[in-house]
Amino acid sequence: MNVSNKYDVIIIGGGPAGCATALMLNRHSNLNILVIEKGHYATQRAGESIPPDTRLLFKQLHIWEEFLSDNHDPCLGSRSAWGMPELGYNDFMLNPMGHGWHLNRQKFDQFLCHQVQACGIDFLQDTKVYKSGFKNKKHQISIKVKNGFTFQIESSFVVDASGINSTFAKRNNSKKITDDEMVCITSFYQRRKNSLPDKLTLLEATEYGWWYAAHLPENRIAVALTCDKSFSKFYKINQHKNWIKLLKHTTKNIYKNMQSSQYIQNSIRINLVNSCVLDKIAGQSWLATGDAACTFDPISAGGIYKALTHGISAAKSICQYFDGKVMSLNNYEKLVKSDFNYYLQNKTHLYQLENRWQNSPFWKHRQTYKKSDGVAHRQIADLTL
Ligand SMILES: Cc1cc2nc3c(=O)[nH]c(=O)nc-3n(C[C@H](O)[C@H](O)[C@H](O)COP(=O)(O)OP(=O)(O)OC[C@H]3O[C@@H](n4cnc5c(N)ncnc54)[C@H](O)[C@@H]3O)c2cc1C
Repeated sequence: MNVSNKYDVIIIGGGPAGCATALMLNRHSNLNILVIEKGHYATQRAGESIPPDTRLLFKQLHIWEEFLSDNHDPCLGSRSAWGMPELGYNDFMLNPMGHGWHLNRQKFDQFLCHQVQACGIDFLQDTKVYKSGFKNKKHQISIKVKNGFTFQIESSFVVDASGINSTFAKRNNSKKITDDEMVCITSFYQRRKNSLPDKLTLLEATEYGWWYAAHLPENRIAVALTCDKSFSKFYKINQHKNWIKLLKHTTKNIYKNMQSSQYIQNSIRINLVNSCVLDKIAGQSWLATGDAACTFDPISAGGIYKALTHGISAAKSICQYFDGKVMSLNNYEKLVKSDFNYYLQNKTHLYQLENRWQNSPFWKHRQTYKKSDGVAHRQIADLTL
């Protein structure tokens, strides 16, 4: 692919947030855009459940019909043993938007990349942004291609959509304010051939954290534990033999649900699932979006939805910025921070619904709401596992 050495907008990261920003910018402007993605969508990616309302975002991005033709599994709601040992049901049947989806995440992210490329937007894969500078009112972005080749590209505006590491924002002195730190340890299973997929997400609270199971396309099941990092380290839950022992002895529903399925060797993954927000979400001709701006606990099942919504809002602000309305970046920052505070309130409410383990540090820690004021005076995220 021929890449120019000058762009109006460079987007770092080709995940849901970066792709939504690119698609929306392309619809509403004539700006010259480049998306840079360090991977090539060949490896397993975390996060698979999206709510029914996501269809509205696909329609806004003009990719709804194409999304449907990829045949992701419908998700009809959830069953949860949360606050009581018996399962309660939350059925999407009553939702006017219809059902949600359990995605093949790899295929979904690749699909978004193809949609961006189909619009004629320049898209580099296997290319990492490793340095950036600012000279003569332009960003100088240094990139390294997988084969080791490096070069520099100039851009008037930069979007940091690089996910949880917020690569560009951090280099521009933005700090993470962490409200909560947890880990999520996921294993993947292969269902028996011809067994019917369960179209409900299954959630189960335990004293030390909560589990979920979701049936995915291609006969797979994702089973995950979200708990404190210290608990996971102490009991070495990142080893499958310890993980499965814990699952077997502490859950009533999840273990039963995947008992006859086969563990996919070496599929266990550990991810940080912090709730955090940047103190500075936009700066001098740049902004951060998606997980680069703020991250949610997976209990919200809202990370992908949030990445798409904030990507769409980011694109609108950038168009206004290029029209001379510089305040648009401040407004975007306010919107993301307000969404983050709203999310924190909902999250606290959810954890308050579970009162069976009054002395459990895991539950006690998450049952008081502290409004984030957007200033980095709290703990800085520790990104080591
Ligand atoms: C265990 C787990 C379970 C989850 N479950 C759900 C769920 O069920 N539902 C849900 O909605 N959300 C879930 N999430 C959250 C969801 O996956 C994220 O919120 C979502 O992927 C955010 O999208 P994004 O585009 O902001 O970031 P990402 O998807 O992280 O994309 C960022 C991209 O930037 C690229 N990149 C990074 N650095 C550079 C660089 N220097 N140069 C070039 N490219 C770079 C990365 O390769 C990546 O492709 C889960 C997350 C985890 C960890």
